[in-house]
Amino acid sequence: MKALQYTAIGQAPEIRDVPIPVPGAGQVLVKVTAAGVCHSDQFVMSLPEDAYRGSGFPLPMTLGHEGVGVVHQVGAGVSSVAVGDAVAIYGPWGCGLCHLCQQGKENYCERAKRDGIFPPGLGRDGTMAEYVLIDDPRHLLPLGDLDPVENVSLTDAGLTPYHAIKQSLPKLGAGTFAVVIGTGGLGHVAIQILRALSGATVIALDVSEEKLELARKVGAHHAVLSDDGAEAAIRELTGGRGSNAAFDFVGITPTMNLAVRTTAAEGDATIVGIGGGTASLGWGTQAYDVAVRIPYWGSRSELSEVLDLARAGQLSVEVERFSLDDGPEAYHRLHEGTIAGRAVIVP
Ligand code: NAD
Ligand code: ZN
Ligand code: ZN
Repeated sequence: MKALQYTAIGQAPEIRDVPIPVPGAGQVLVKVTAAGVCHSDQFVMSLPEDAYRGSGFPLPMTLGHEGVGVVHQVGAGVSSVAVGDAVAIYGPWGCGLCHLCQQGKENYCERAKRDGIFPPGLGRDGTMAEYVLIDDPRHLLPLGDLDPVENVSLTDAGLTPYHAIKQSLPKLGAGTFAVVIGTGGLGHVAIQILRALSGATVIALDVSEEKLELARKVGAHHAVLSDDGAEAAIRELTGGRGSNAAFDFVGITPTMNLAVRTTAAEGDATIVGIGGGTASLGWGTQAYDVAVRIPYWGSRSELSEVLDLARAGQLSVEVERFSLDDGPEAYHRLHEGTIAGRAVIVP
C-alpha cells in the first residue's frame, strides 16, 4: 500500500510502498477514508536529530494522527466492531488501565511514556496510508453518517480545543470575553466551539487578513491582527478588563505572553500551541489569580461529544483536500501558512 512517511531527519516526507499490516489478536485494520494534516507533524519534522531520536519515534514513520475510516479486518477476539463499520480514531492512546485511562483520559495516561505507548502518526505508523493498524477497538468511535473528509479533523483539531475550552466554560458565561490566538486548523474550530457552548464574545487574532476573514466567517465577533497593537486592541474591546479565557494556538513566546498578560483576574490563559515558547509569570505581570494551563489533546468521551456537536450542525471544519501523492505539498503549504482551515488527505 501507499503511505506518506517521514524517512530522514530534516527531509520532506515522501510516498513509499509498504506492506499492508495484518491485525493480530485484539487488533483492527482500518481502511483510511481521510487523514488530517496537523501543525504538530511539522513540529516533529523540525526536531533536530538528537531531539527526534530522544522522542523514541521510529524512522521511517507513516505520518497522520487524525484519522477516520472503515473497519476492513478484525483480529481474533474482536467483537465490538465489525467489518464495514465507519469509525473515527481516538488518537492519544494510553495503557487503558491506569487511573486516568479508566476515566477515558488516555491523553494523560500515567504509563504511556514509560511503556512506550504512542499515538498513530506520533511514534508509530499513522493514518496517512491506505490502511492503519489499531491496537484495540476501544480507540474507535462510531462515525455514523458524518462525512469522513469534512469531519476527520474533529479527532484532533476539534477534540483538542474542545478539551481546552471545556475546562474554562464556568468562566465564560454571558458578558464575558474569550481570546483565540491563531485561527488555523485548531483555532477556527475553537471559535465555533466557543460560540456553540459559551456566552463569551470571541476575539480572534491571526497574522493575515485572509486568516481573519475565516475567523469572522466561522463566528468570531472581532478579528484583530496579532501585532504590536494586539494587547491594546484586546484591552479596548474588553473595556480595559482583559479576557476571561485566552486560548493560544501558536505557543511562541510573544503569543504566550500576550495570552497571560491580557487575561483578566481569575481568568484562564491556556497554551495549546507547541511553538517552543515560554511565558513570563510573576507578581504584577499578570492579573490576580490568573491560571495558566497547558493541556494536551482530549479524552475519549470528549471526542464523542465533539462528534455529536458536528451531528447537531454546530461545527464545520473548513477543508482543503489533497491526494496521498500530494501529501508533501500539503505540508509545504501548511509550512508556508497558506492553508485556510485544515488540509485533509484522501487516500
Ligand atoms: P495551523 O498552522 O493550522 O494554525 C496556526 C495559525 O496560527 C495559523 O493560522 C497562523 O497564521 C497563526 N499564527 C502564526 N503566528 C501567529 C502569531 N504570532 N499570532 C497569531 N497567529 C499566528 O496549526 P494547527 O494545526 O492549528 O496547530 C496549532 C498549534 O497547536 C501547533 O503549534 C500545534 O503543534 C499545536 N497542537 C497542540 C495540540 C495539543 O494537544 N496541545 C494538539 C494539536 C496541535
Ligand atoms: Zn495534531
Ligand atoms: Zn494509562
